[in-house]
Amino acid sequence: MLTLRKSKPGFGLDLFEGVEAPAPAAGDVTVRVEHAGICGSDVHAYEWTDGYGFMVPYLPITMGHEFAGYVVRAGAGVTMAEGTRVTVMPGVDCGVCANCLRGNQRNCLRRTAIGLSRNGGFARYVTVPAGNCLALPDAVDTELGALTEPLCVGAEAVLTGGVGLGDTVMVMGPGTIGQAAALFARAAGAGKVFVVGKADGPRFDVVRALGFDRILDVAEAPLAELMGGLKADVVIEATGYPPSVIDGLGVLRKGGVLVVAGIHPGPLTLPLTDFVRNRHQLRATHGCDRPTWDKVLTLLSRDPERFRPMITHRLPLERGIEGFELARQRAASKVMLRP
Ligand SMILES: [Zn+2]
Ligand SMILES: [Zn+2]
Repeated sequence: MLTLRKSKPGFGLDLFEGVEAPAPAAGDVTVRVEHAGICGSDVHAYEWTDGYGFMVPYLPITMGHEFAGYVVRAGAGVTMAEGTRVTVMPGVDCGVCANCLRGNQRNCLRRTAIGLSRNGGFARYVTVPAGNCLALPDAVDTELGALTEPLCVGAEAVLTGGVGLGDTVMVMGPGTIGQAAALFARAAGAGKVFVVGKADGPRFDVVRALGFDRILDVAEAPLAELMGGLKADVVIEATGYPPSVIDGLGVLRKGGVLVVAGIHPGPLTLPLTDFVRNRHQLRATHGCDRPTWDKVLTLLSRDPERFRPMITHRLPLERGIEGFELARQRAASKVMLRP
């Protein structure tokens, strides 16, 4: 079958014909992938920016960790019926390390990730542990199902920030994670939600289509000036640009929380005196907890069409490289590939 693979370190990906998905072993299922999204982190791996060297021992690898489809074959001991429509959680825990044995699977010491350290969803079929598959609610089709993973990442950032009723929330970065964070901040009862970007036309259009009109473009003026003295209770950073953390702290109220969700290619110089005097709380979020998946699927099934504008481009897998270029040049917001 056709797969979109990272074959070797360095820039680029390869469309590769020939590899097949293995028959499911006990506890595994083979999923027919219907939609697979291109994530910002996939683009980083495509460009081979700093921070993706961990993939080297696993290459060549079929990428794609945001996908949904249906079960075509179940291995021994699997109760999930063939034909079940599923979304797939990418984190695979080992089940036997000290943290897994304590019930703390999220912090598994030998965690692997579907699409980053084992074969993923940029292929017609992928074999994964059945425990990683979540049945989609009837109201959620597999295209929106493939959006679940980035929605969960945005939701987890909102939960990490402790967004509460009436809060002023600033989301930095208008990409898919930022869009998801804005949606779930609103769902959590935020009073005002600002979305910040820099000359981000196509993604600002999506943010507007999702019903947010407080859009701040830092290409026009510094952030503090655009905010006109208003401070945020919670800032969620989803830019992957280290200096944006400093800009975010500059508009955060005393005692407020800044959540770093972006994947950053370099270090941050943090002015510690202001940081301490303002008692700013700096938190990190990465991936998401299993219960968050259930919460997101519940919210997604309540109003699925609310989320659809996040998907801006749909391409067959054969045109995957074109999809990566659209995402890289920020001409697209979320690109969905159809294997
Ligand atoms: Zn992702
Ligand atoms: Zn483990």
